[in-house]
Amino acid sequence: MKYAIFGDIHANLEAFQAVLEDAAAQECTDRVCVGDIVGYGANPRECIALVQELGCPVVKGNHDEEAVLETSLEGLNPLARQAMEWTRAQLDNDDRAFLKSLKLVRQVRDFTIVHATLDTPGSWTYVTNKFDAMASFSYQFTQLCFYGHTHTPRIYVKGDSVEPLEEMEVRLEMGRKYFINIGSTGQPRDGDWRSSYAIYDADNQEVTIRRIDYDIETAQDKIIDAGLPEMLAHRLSLGK
Ligand code: ZN
Repeated sequence: MKYAIFGDIHANLEAFQAVLEDAAAQECTDRVCVGDIVGYGANPRECIALVQELGCPVVKGNHDEEAVLETSLEGLNPLARQAMEWTRAQLDNDDRAFLKSLKLVRQVRDFTIVHATLDTPGSWTYVTNKFDAMASFSYQFTQLCFYGHTHTPRIYVKGDSVEPLEEMEVRLEMGRKYFINIGSTGQPRDGDWRSSYAIYDADNQEVTIRRIDYDIETAQDKIIDAGLPEMLAHRLSLGK
């Protein structure tokens, strides 16, 4: 089994399609999504439809949750708020029912998926250092867990202590646990504009984070044509 694990698609259809094409070229057998299908980008409905078509396991992200609420968006920053108001107006009842149905945490075969953290998955806090990762590891009952939310790929390993790796690939060892941020498909924020996703090769017990070029100009044009804030198009090329 070879799993392609992606998330934080954020309605960027061009990036999502490029990741799926790469996963096919890499001979992945399964697809898994760690949430935030919508928000920011111009193709929320198309990205939901593509996830549904794949029929893959999915967990809920904070934007997937926000998109189906009718509550005020006061808490969000202005960019996120404008994008979310636009996104809410696009979705139909079936899209909303689908996003609502998503769970916060799921186990897929021998690994776990969650959007933000395992210790408080519905609070949408961020894992930005090894101490945050340690809190999540306390609730991790499989050797391997994949997550997203920060839009920055990172591999944390728990042996005697918890440490982040420098590398973007790891061979799994017995007695160790791995909490792996797969980065963002549709809006990377680590200074690299290319889409990020992970391949978990279960037969060889290896995880690799891949970076993929996509048609960024089309994604940016669509954001501007939709009347979304131009900054959302601009930030894609900055990778932040
Ligand atoms: Zn996100």
